[in-house]
Amino acid sequence: MHRLILMMMVCTMNIMPKSNDRQISNLQIFNKAYLTENVLDVISSIRKYTDKKICVYDIKTFPDKRFQNFKNYFGISSDKGENIEIWLSENFPEQVLVHELLHILLRLEGFPEIYRNENYIRETVGTSNINLIDNIQSILSSTIDHQIIYTRMKDNEKLEPESYIQALIEMKFKRLHKTEQGSKKYRNIEIFYRQQDLFVLFDLHIFGELSKKLQIEYSKMHPELVSFFNTLNTSVQKIGFDSPIQAKKSADYIITSIIRFGDVNNLDRRINNLWRCLFVK
Ligand SMILES: [Zn+2]
Repeated sequence: MHRLILMMMVCTMNIMPKSNDRQISNLQIFNKAYLTENVLDVISSIRKYTDKKICVYDIKTFPDKRFQNFKNYFGISSDKGENIEIWLSENFPEQVLVHELLHILLRLEGFPEIYRNENYIRETVGTSNINLIDNIQSILSSTIDHQIIYTRMKDNEKLEPESYIQALIEMKFKRLHKTEQGSKKYRNIEIFYRQQDLFVLFDLHIFGELSKKLQIEYSKMHPELVSFFNTLNTSVQKIGFDSPIQAKKSADYIITSIIRFGDVNNLDRRINNLWRCLFVK
């Protein structure tokens, strides 16, 4: 009996520390309880590509004042600096941490990113709307990633993403752009903002029933845009997002289609041209 216990202890000691050490090496997190099995799985996939330090902070300590709006975000991540950095709110920390880590993992796996064509901005559209370009660049980048992220999250039964998705949908309502509806003067800019709001239909379409409420709400505001996005979504899903090459093709198709929609609907060229500043790589 003693011997058996001793053997088990030895086995445990031999197996456990190595694999866990590997997974949590070079990691700083403000709450260790968030290091669940699902989170460690993604970290260990990231570790196949990089040993870069991963820092996970409380979102309340986010340093950049431009992100006053982060109360409307569950999580933010960045892999551009010396460390991989993630900021988490107290809402669904496990699901959000998995989500943010998957954004990082997709870069490492070679999935495409959205870039700005600085020459085109300087020479054609000018820098006065640079904030608007930043917005569509980041919304489109996230949307492309989310096609893969939400599919992987949905496929992981241990993660139980449904209540998180439900909360995310409520959050999207709060983040709808506020513009003067129905006024002709604002129609151009309003459609430009609604296009961005509608990317969420792309994001969450794999959760079908759950995202229906959003679809109905958006249809009341801009039926023609919703039907455009539904058609676009159907075409893009045929191309798919399973591999980096498919994801790039889909992202190119999305940008081209949005620009064509603007041209066909006589949107102000200065506004529609902002989409022409983006490219996929
Ligand atoms: Zn995301």
